[in-house]
Order: sequence, then structure tokens, then C-alpha cells
Amino acid sequence: MTSPHTAQLIDGNALSKQLRADVATRAAALRARGVMPGLAVILVGENPASQVYVRNKVKACEDSGLHSVLEKHAASLSEADLLQRIEALNRDPSIHGILVQLPLPAHIDAHKVIEAISPDKDVDGFHVASAGALMVGQPGFWPCTPFGCMKMLESIHYDLKGKHAVVIGRSNIVGKPMALMLLQQNATVTICHSATPDLKAMTLQADVIVAAVGKRNVLTADMVKPGAVVIDVGMNRNDEDKLCGDVDFEGVRQVAGWITPVPGGVGPMTITMLLVNTLQAAERAASNSGR
Ligand code: NAP
Repeated sequence: MTSPHTAQLIDGNALSKQLRADVATRAAALRARGVMPGLAVILVGENPASQVYVRNKVKACEDSGLHSVLEKHAASLSEADLLQRIEALNRDPSIHGILVQLPLPAHIDAHKVIEAISPDKDVDGFHVASAGALMVGQPGFWPCTPFGCMKMLESIHYDLKGKHAVVIGRSNIVGKPMALMLLQQNATVTICHSATPDLKAMTLQADVIVAAVGKRNVLTADMVKPGAVVIDVGMNRNDEDKLCGDVDFEGVRQVAGWITPVPGGVGPMTITMLLVNTLQAAERAASNSGR
């Protein structure tokens, strides 16, 4: 009797460990040249999820030999004061990356705040200049989550050329940049969203599916072509309040060729790519200053 097919796992924890070891080595080399790579993380207000994310980012920096500064501000901080803090960090030579944790309180215009970050320090890759650079294929910081997904595809030596990739979701931080990165690697890309009339008809054609919706079971086994690569960006809670993705993992793994788990997939990769971007910012700053 043959055992039932199960997809191979793309392990985000294991891949992160490898990439973070590389970051630590490069950070040590920079320190030896007298440059301490530094990330500033700004948190406004007390959103519990944001507090956890920020803590994880700061800890990841420390573990990899990067310096991090966590600025916590009361939810009542004015937009003008926040913009002033960003200006000060833009000028601070010990800070190479600036991250403003979203969401911001309603009285602050998040777009204005992100645009105030110097593109040289925009390690989240959300600035219009970073988005534009990705759009036209110029160097710039790539948003960490889709960048991490690309690294996961690279880790299995997946050649995207001529493959059909279907991205579900079109947000500015995940879906749209993901589609551009896949396109840059010569995939044929379809972007689906809430107004896509027949999602299954699209996903059944896909060699690669990236689900970035934020709803459980958006992708089920009957929607997946045998052997497809499935990347699950979603972060949701199931009935037992456990973390789960957008993909029906148990069902889809019987059909897919490769699959990312939740937890332990895209999540750790997102933080890892933040470290990679911060290190790159520090390396660029160091060579620009002749170190
Ligand atoms: P978002 O801004 O809410 O975007 C969700 C997208 O899904 C939208 O484009 C929406 O379409 C589309 N959508 C909604 N319902 C759909 C449906 N039934 N069929 C097809 N498309 C549908 O969310 P996001 O910020 O991109 O995040 C997506 C998910 O990824 C969330 O669960 C988030 O928590 C997770 N996430 C995880 C990480 C990580 O590190 N693992 C990082 C970032 C985000 P419209 O545009 O038409 O509304």
C-alpha cells in the first residue's frame, strides 16, 4: 500500500535560522569596521498585538548583533511630534533603519508618517520611493513579508520563469509587492481580490499560490493543482484560538507539492527580512561614509 501524498514543508524557522546566522556574521564584520547597525522601532499607543510584534523585532535584533532602539509613545502623541521624532532619527547616524509599527492611532495620518522616513532608512519598504523602485526594478528596500516569501521559493530552488503564480490579496504591504517580485522573476502573475468572481478557477491554474487575505480556509484542497507550491501569509485564529493561516493546511498538503505552515512559515521570515534590510541599510551607509 502506498502512503498518501503529503506536500514537502518549507520551514520558515529553519530558513530564518540560516539567514539570521548570515546577518550576525555580516553585522560582526560591520562592527569590526566601527559601525554598529542600528534599528529604531517606534510604537505609538498600546495595541497588544503591536506590542508583541515590536518586542519580537527588538529581540531578533539583539540576537543577531544589531543595535535597536525602541521608542514607546502614548496614544495621545500628536502627528507633528511623531514627524519631528522621525526627522531626528533620519539625521541620527547611529540609526540605519526606522520602523513605525502600524496601525497608528486614528488622529495620525500613517501615509504622511511613512513618507517622512528617509527612503535610505525605510527598512519596512513601505515608502512610495521603495514601492516605486520595486515597480521599475531599481534597487530599494523590499517589504519584508513578500521578500520573505521570495526567499522561501529560492530556498527550494524553485524556478519561477514561465510559471503561473496566483496571488490572493492586493494590499500595498503584501499582495501588490508580492505580485511585482514574482513578475520580476518571469512568472505570469494573476492577482485576485474580494471582487474576483471565481477564485477557484484562478487558483486551479496556478503553479504557485500565495494566500494573503486574512481569512481562514480561503484556499481548500479542491482549489489546488496537484504539485503546486502554496505559500500561506495569513495570520488568523481558529476555533481553539490557535494561530492559523488562510490555507486549509491539512487538506491542501494532500495535494500541493510544497507548503508553508502557520505558525513557523512566513511569520518568522518577515522579521528575518527586516534584519536583512536593516543590515543592508547599515552596509550602504558604511560604504557611503567610506568605512
Ligand atoms: P489586507 O490589507 O486586509 O488585504 C487583504 C486582501 O485580501 C485584500 O486585497 C482583499 O481584497 C482580499 N480579500 C478579502 N477577502 C477575499 C476573498 N474572499 N477572496 C479573495 N481575496 C479576498 O491584509 P494584508 O495586510 O495584506 O494581510 C493579509 C493577511 O496576511 C492577514 O492575515 C495578515 O495578518 C497577514 N500578514 C501576515 C504577515 C506575516 O508576517 N506572516 C505579515 C503581513 C500580513 P480587496 O482589496 O478587494 O478588499
